[in-house]
Amino acid sequence: MHPIVIIGSGLAGYNVARELRKLDKQAPLLVISADSGHYYSKPMLSNAFTTKKTPETLPMNKAEQMPGQLSATVRPHTRVTAIDPAAHQIRIGDETVTYSKLVLALGAEQIRLPLTGSAADRVLSVNSLDDYARFRATVDGKHSIAVIGAGLIGCEFANDLSGAGYKVSVIDIASQPLPRLLPPEGGALLKRKLESIGVTWHLGTSVAAIDTRGDGVRVTLANGDAFDADVVLSAVGLKPLTALARAAGLKINRGIVVNRHLEASAPDVCALGDCAEVEGLVLPFVMPIMHASRALGATLAGKPTAVTYPAMPVLVKTPACPTIVSPPADPAAGTWEVTAAEDSVKSLFLDAKGKLLGFALNGKATEERAALTKQLPPVLG
Ligand SMILES: Cc1cc2nc3c(=O)[nH]c(=O)nc-3n(C[C@H](O)[C@H](O)[C@H](O)COP(=O)(O)OP(=O)(O)OC[C@H]3O[C@@H](n4cnc5c(N)ncnc54)[C@H](O)[C@@H]3O)c2cc1C
Repeated sequence: MHPIVIIGSGLAGYNVARELRKLDKQAPLLVISADSGHYYSKPMLSNAFTTKKTPETLPMNKAEQMPGQLSATVRPHTRVTAIDPAAHQIRIGDETVTYSKLVLALGAEQIRLPLTGSAADRVLSVNSLDDYARFRATVDGKHSIAVIGAGLIGCEFANDLSGAGYKVSVIDIASQPLPRLLPPEGGALLKRKLESIGVTWHLGTSVAAIDTRGDGVRVTLANGDAFDADVVLSAVGLKPLTALARAAGLKINRGIVVNRHLEASAPDVCALGDCAEVEGLVLPFVMPIMHASRALGATLAGKPTAVTYPAMPVLVKTPACPTIVSPPADPAAGTWEVTAAEDSVKSLFLDAKGKLLGFALNGKATEERAALTKQLPPVLG
């Protein structure tokens, strides 16, 4: 009997394997991963200094432990090079593996800015444990870090690195941090609180060039300003990893297109996690992965199950300014109603009839998270 093959050992790949095993202990299972195959929580990469974790202590389980836990074969450091859906086969270089079902849990890739300058190739980004190990080795003994991008990941790294004693500068084309998640009042509070722990902002501008300057770099901005830094971290966003699926002829939109049963456009091929677009939704966060894993685990065990998503607020790991966001599905469907105090901003996104469609809470207002979440409509009912 051919195995169920899962490509990817991130939260999506390993969690669907765990969910399958709760219901089916027998089906042969093969997990293939291009990376180390250690089981770790990716969100912990952007607050590892605060939580006193290192690349060595971040994995909750080492790759060697996973076959025993999952009753599966696990092949780390193994890259799948092609998929042949008609033959139910994948290729790993010259090797061919036949699957009964194929699960694509491929994750996302960093968006790379077209940067110029003699040190443009020294810009780092973090989207895996291996990336993080490289980053930590690079910043060790250094003092100043420029972060490109004031979105969720950029702000989290800014807080974490600043707390660890680094001099942090953040650059973003937007005029406030978390521009897509917070109305201006919430962005202003987050900006001020991060400033209070030493973060410097360069907002409303972009990076024009990164050039070598001694052991570090000189960052030149589009507005003409320039400053020196030891290390540059790019956190300008992620996009679903779709090349493998596209080459196999699967339907791709923003991500690998799947229905509510997480089925892609070829028989016996499914996708979930950061690589997938579920009924038009690309949601690169942990909670959607947990819901999708449960549904797909059941489906693979022979109980076809559609995924549903409740409201899933995201906690932004900026302890300098506690922040929780539940962005509205459609930013045109309502307006923000903002109540701001000294250390707190409560922003409710309401439709014309006053129905709550989303929220953004900063500071003390985060205490209202549970009560407000109950009022939100499901993301996918
Ligand atoms: C720094 C950071 C902080 C975050 N913080 C939060 C947070 O606070 N809250 C939250 O909800 N979300 C957060 N996220 C997002 C969340 O971590 C991701 O949504 C989630 O981890 C994605 O899991 P995944 O399994 O889909 O992808 P990944 O973890 O990227 O796993 C993809 C896997 O596929 C493998 N792979 C890819 N291509 C191939 C191939 N051709 N052959 C073999 N293997 C392949 C990779 O090696 C990897 O094992 C954060 C993300 C980052 C980067």
